[in-house]
Amino acid sequence: MNLCDIRTVREILSAFGTTTKKGFGQNFLINQSIPERIAENCCDDADSVIVEIGPGIGCLTAELAKRYKKVIAFEIDKTLIPVLAYTLGEYKNVEVINRDIMEADLAAVLAEKAAGERISVCANLPYYITTPILMRLLESGIPFDCITVMVQAEVAARLAAAPGSADYGAITASLCYYGQPQRLFTVAAGNFMPAPKVNSAVVRIDLYRDKPVKPKDEKLFFTVIKAAFGQRRKTLTNALSTAFPDRTKEELTEAVTACGFDERIRGERLSTADFAALADQLVK
Ligand code: SAM
Repeated sequence: MNLCDIRTVREILSAFGTTTKKGFGQNFLINQSIPERIAENCCDDADSVIVEIGPGIGCLTAELAKRYKKVIAFEIDKTLIPVLAYTLGEYKNVEVINRDIMEADLAAVLAEKAAGERISVCANLPYYITTPILMRLLESGIPFDCITVMVQAEVAARLAAAPGSADYGAITASLCYYGQPQRLFTVAAGNFMPAPKVNSAVVRIDLYRDKPVKPKDEKLFFTVIKAAFGQRRKTLTNALSTAFPDRTKEELTEAVTACGFDERIRGERLSTADFAALADQLVK
């Protein structure tokens, strides 16, 4: 069964009385070489457990199941559960869980089903909720080796942007705290059913075992990042004034210059390590 053949996809959905749902961000891959390439590149250790988010009708799931020890797939759409039981029936190393990934207790599920295993994440993410899912995974504290996601091309550009570039933003600086992002390849819109309006790209994030940047106060560090990009056009000091109304302009300027930055610098020029240094200056 070719789960990327457009006629097969339509026939299977129709046989199970369901259809693609825009509300769940359902754009299914219809080019077999893409799930193969994603699965091939999402993890370096075949002995890993892969968490998949949104298996759809299972085209990527099948490629993951062929290459890795086990796949645990979270699918929100209950109409796809019997479909997946049919399409993935031959893979005994796949477990599908009918749950919203934003509500699932992922740590508890993995403690029960993958204790002691190396774990990575792989997903063709639903575009309506890309960043919240990514941040939830990163903030979970689960020691994933890699998180590989297909996202809209413009989001991919932001995830893997260099400081100072137009695409660099709060998500980039935050992401680089947790790991090293790498843009793998572009996927044209015509490879999906239905075709989205924009192209997509695959990004792999190799998570740090030991984070190289260690802010004294993590919450403050993220507040500083958010403040710096909340008012991108302002100087860093002015952007910080809004987020820290209890600090004087002089205090903030002093913190910025103590890090070796010009007092008129904009936040978009700071790397993740720079933000940590600045946040450390602001610890009371
Ligand atoms: N993996 C399939 C593929 O590559 O063809 C489908 C990818 S499709 C872009 C996104 C999938 O995520 C859909 O199956 C959708 O139902 C599912 N999904 C959407 N929101 C979700 C959520 N909050 N939790 C779990 N799955 C979700």
